[in-house]
Amino acid sequence: MKYLSFAILVTFLIYSQACKDDDSDCMELIWYQDADSDGLGNPAVSLSDCEQPQGYVSNNSDTDDSGIISASRTPESAFDDFNDEAVVVSFDGNEITIESNGLPNHTSPYWDSSSDMYIDPVVAVSGQMSPGTIRSGSYSLTVPAAPVKASTPSSTGLGAIGIAVTGVPIFNDEEGPNIALSAQVASGFDYAGGHMGPTGYHYHLESSDVSENTLLSHNDHELVGILQDGFLIYGRKCSSTNDYPTDLDASGGHTSSTHHSGDDQFYHYHIINEFYLDNRILLFGVDLQGTPNAFAR
Ligand SMILES: [Zn+2]
Ligand SMILES: [Zn+2]
Repeated sequence: MKYLSFAILVTFLIYSQACKDDDSDCMELIWYQDADSDGLGNPAVSLSDCEQPQGYVSNNSDTDDSGIISASRTPESAFDDFNDEAVVVSFDGNEITIESNGLPNHTSPYWDSSSDMYIDPVVAVSGQMSPGTIRSGSYSLTVPAAPVKASTPSSTGLGAIGIAVTGVPIFNDEEGPNIALSAQVASGFDYAGGHMGPTGYHYHLESSDVSENTLLSHNDHELVGILQDGFLIYGRKCSSTNDYPTDLDASGGHTSSTHHSGDDQFYHYHIINEFYLDNRILLFGVDLQGTPNAFAR
């Protein structure tokens, strides 16, 4: 009996050694939990695995994995770019509130003809312009001062998904509930990429390169606005490289510095450098990587 036990043990040892040989090209590494998705792992929570598990990173230098301190704060100087006649920005510790009356500081054929901001259409096709004239509205958005990426992206809905530097709400690629923009509707957009809707004047597209356009981002690295998850959106180029970024995620986002942040890196979006309808470029028609905050009207 004793001899049999020994034989079983020897067999087991040979078997386990064989197993180990089979797995010899798998090298286990230690992975640290990254609960706040900032790329830094929590040294207190680790496991070993041959492949990187979801939610884990090889870095172990996160001193606070809850997401508040390790996340990058949105550079406050970015808000100096907002139209201060329409937009009031309040900083309250961990939150930023952006309130706007929605009135742009640029000319448009959508202003009432009595307004000194009214111009005849230069980009919009008169017969395709949507009815109504620009009027005062009320948009209020409160976002975290240090927004973080959510575990899953969120789709955007109809209505305001952000506020542009001019104070005008940013819309996505929908013109009605689950109705995509059409080339016909877009032909009524002004040079700012905006038009009227039931809730007021709003932008869908990047602005056009016309001489009347003196302040909106067109094919450059200027700030476009802030989206409802609290991340800033810039033009098609990034000031960190002075070129079109090549490391964007599916939402047009990446982590880098901008001209507002010095050397500090933070996550932000760019207008994706792709044509949407003919030669028009959408401001934002993809998913949000952060958690959307609701607009208070
Ligand atoms: Zn619209
Ligand atoms: Zn960038």
